[in-house]
Amino acid sequence: MPELPEVEVVCRGLRPYLIQRSIVAVHWSDKDLRVPLPRATLPGLIGQRITRISRRAKYLLIHLANGSLLIVHLGMSGRLGIFPANEPVHRHDHVRWLLDTGLEMRLNDTRRFGSVHLLPPDEAGEAEHSFFHACGPEPLSRSCSPEQLQRQAHGRKQAIKTLLMDSRFIAGVGNIYANEALFAAGIHPDSPAHTLDLGDWQRLLDQLRIILDQAIACGGSTISDFLGASGDSGYFQVNFKVYGRTNQNCPNCGQKISKTRTSGRASFFCPSCQQQKKEQASGSTPPQKTESENSETGR
Ligand SMILES: [Zn+2]
Repeated sequence: MPELPEVEVVCRGLRPYLIQRSIVAVHWSDKDLRVPLPRATLPGLIGQRITRISRRAKYLLIHLANGSLLIVHLGMSGRLGIFPANEPVHRHDHVRWLLDTGLEMRLNDTRRFGSVHLLPPDEAGEAEHSFFHACGPEPLSRSCSPEQLQRQAHGRKQAIKTLLMDSRFIAGVGNIYANEALFAAGIHPDSPAHTLDLGDWQRLLDQLRIILDQAIACGGSTISDFLGASGDSGYFQVNFKVYGRTNQNCPNCGQKISKTRTSGRASFFCPSCQQQKKEQASGSTPPQKTESENSETGR
């Protein structure tokens, strides 16, 4: 499933093909994705020029000259790529946008957990605001601060890793990057979120940014492949230090990496480098309060 870095790379990869190009035709399949395709309004894109493409959480935002906004989510298996229009259409190509360059952007999605939304010009600003209303801060944005995260976590007893993966708390962080960031920050994945002090939040945010940036840089090499080979939504091969490394040696101290489950998701950690913080003055509270997980599953 694509996470923030993968979606960011797709965004950067598409940019050179889309900016200032006009859409001359739109085709769609009769299958619905996670939500029905906006078939009634998609033809309104014809004749529109693309002015900007950006990312919010794991959504791609394609801005049109008339003010409307096309939003694409890749779900679990979605891929967006650029193809010559005469290239044969594949079975799971659900939407195709033909550009005035003769190239076509295609959304391929075998499992159909992705989604396409089109916000109309007259209400795009308002609608965008409510669309992303429940979405937490962007970890790579300067406006996201350790103070803000600590405030948001105030009084919350669930495991820090569960909170990190909650898109309402912070945008776009999935299981792999949550594991890696907690290891790099020396924080046990099951630590109750409210026990982290400001220094912990600072280290965690710093390390999360480093890891996300590394993953984006790692995917940068795929950007030149966008033409004819749709953006691969798989994980970039960053050097995982704990993820999937049960019983291998911790790169810091040599202890064996442990595996546990946090809200049903696999957690990998070093028992020596990531000591669990306990609730104050009680000593016997397993902090496994499970909040409803993201709708994302798998792995
Ligand atoms: Zn260690």
